[in-house]
Amino acid sequence: MTVHPITITGEPVLHRRAQPVETFDAALRTLIADMFETMDEANGVGLAAPQIGVGLRLFVYGMENDDGVPPRGVLVNPTIVTTKVPGSEPDPEDDAEGCLSVPGESFPLARAGWARVTGFDGDGAPVDFEATGWFARCMQHEYDHLDGKLFVDRLNDRYLRKARRSIRNNAWGVPGLTWMPGVDPDPFGH
Ligand code: ZN
Repeated sequence: MTVHPITITGEPVLHRRAQPVETFDAALRTLIADMFETMDEANGVGLAAPQIGVGLRLFVYGMENDDGVPPRGVLVNPTIVTTKVPGSEPDPEDDAEGCLSVPGESFPLARAGWARVTGFDGDGAPVDFEATGWFARCMQHEYDHLDGKLFVDRLNDRYLRKARRSIRNNAWGVPGLTWMPGVDPDPFGH
């Protein structure tokens, strides 16, 4: 298994729609194992394939939840259905969201409180569960990656301005930037 560098906002694969996985083969299982190892080394709770430069529709997660869902898993070719996203102003603390591809930054974002996620595991067996609370947030965040969307793309005007400024100040937003879990300092200080 291999820890991979994590792509940073500006890398094109993060900003375009990923392609469906076509075959459930040994190469896919290796990719999944690498994604788990990379997520763990980065102290992340989720990691989508585009975040290691692979434009395929799968993500892994590692998050305890109140929904009776295994705390670690993989979703290949997932679909997601959610309740309505609240229109109210996000709470600066309770709704603060971050992303390994916008390392070290976090911004408040309102998310749906419930999601139903379906898809396949690494062997092609169906997966189907409901998620609530932070687990539902995690599912929405990771799914968005597969459509080329980062959480900063969903921020309201106020926080979008802050996010744009921080991306500019970090000289991100251009192709080719990555950081290496376990080598570079943990951007979120975990
Ligand atoms: Zn992310």
